[in-house]
Amino acid sequence: MSAVDCVIVGGGIVGAALADVLCAEGMSVALVEARSIGAGTTACGMGHLVAMDDNAPELALTAWSVALWRELRDELPMAVEYDACGTLWLATDEEELAAIAAKVASYRGAGVRAEVLDAAALREAEPALTPNLVGALRVPDDAVVYPPLAALHFARRAQQRGARLMPGCPVAALRPDGVVLENGEVLAAGHVVLAAGVASPRLCPDLPISPRKGHLLITRRGAPVVRHQLVELGYLKSAHGSDGASVAFNAQPRVTGQLLLGSSRQPGVGSGQVEPAILERMLKRAADFLPGLDALQALRVWTGLRPATPDGLPLLGPHPRKPWLWLACGHEGLGITTATGSARLVADQLLGRASAIDARPYAPSRFEALHA
Ligand SMILES: Cc1cc2nc3c(=O)[nH]c(=O)nc-3n(C[C@H](O)[C@H](O)[C@H](O)COP(=O)(O)OP(=O)(O)OC[C@H]3O[C@@H](n4cnc5c(N)ncnc54)[C@H](O)[C@@H]3O)c2cc1C
Repeated sequence: MSAVDCVIVGGGIVGAALADVLCAEGMSVALVEARSIGAGTTACGMGHLVAMDDNAPELALTAWSVALWRELRDELPMAVEYDACGTLWLATDEEELAAIAAKVASYRGAGVRAEVLDAAALREAEPALTPNLVGALRVPDDAVVYPPLAALHFARRAQQRGARLMPGCPVAALRPDGVVLENGEVLAAGHVVLAAGVASPRLCPDLPISPRKGHLLITRRGAPVVRHQLVELGYLKSAHGSDGASVAFNAQPRVTGQLLLGSSRQPGVGSGQVEPAILERMLKRAADFLPGLDALQALRVWTGLRPATPDGLPLLGPHPRKPWLWLACGHEGLGITTATGSARLVADQLLGRASAIDARPYAPSRFEALHA
């Protein structure tokens, strides 16, 4: 039986970022991954690093996390494709444009730069968009990364600092003194962290995490030139609805000259199949915003399962009935963005110190089901 200070179950972007932070603090860490690093939902995400202001805890965690990514940018390898393109939230009518004023205030209150573009300024910023738009909110410090290689970067940096990377090692059970691997081996550890994304309830069945399926499409090179990550303001409505499938326009320029198009949300759907009907709705919506899309060829289409919690916030902290078990899961559609802040929040709690933001809104103890 080998012993480490901390075993992290799940080598997605959240587990890998945590391994990196804990090793930097001098802890001995094993990062145990069933498949390969970043192969789960992380490999399916868009990689938008985005400050979101749906509620105060979401804004606090996303704003801090985007700032932490920005601090890392100079040391990220080219392959991570960090692109400081900023976000444009697009208004289709006067009502949406009016809502932008409140958003500017809430972003600025959290220290996030934000500005309003009128229709003319928007046309100048993004000539490929339909001229029917009435304006936009610009958040210049948002960015984009290529998620699986970002996860690999964190994991490799942790390894250089002494972490044991264990890909191809599914964990069968969690225990107070470590984990049992599927091959029967026991890995002893002082702390156990569950960061298995949407698969976390398989190892801890009382967790309130369910899949929220999404489709994405990437074009060949030669897409209409787009300079920002583009999102329709209506995305906020579709992102937080809890029933029925929804689609919203979301387009991301890649440094490769391709365009990544999203996105759809299907709460409770756990199958990975591509559904042509959803894809068609998504593409129609995208063509409303980017008329030049019709001439484009899709290179690849895929789906991913977001690990959703009932209140849309992740579980970051100790399990209320199993104090030996730490949770770092349930990041829904913001796990790439918030991997940096989540890693710090969990590491700070493990080390018994305060964080830069209040950790309480993300405490797993907020869910009654975990106390039963
Ligand atoms: C279509 C789509 C678009 C998205 N776009 C964005 C975006 O633009 N920005 C953003 O911030 N977020 C985005 N997300 C969300 C983001 O991808 C997720 O929140 C994030 O990847 C979750 O990371 P994770 O490390 O928690 O989970 P995962 O990446 O799923 O990692 C968990 C790991 O645990 C492993 N595992 C599971 N069971 C076991 C076991 N028993 N033993 C060992 N290992 C195990 C899995 O193999 C997996 O690698 C998107 C998601 C989707 C689906």
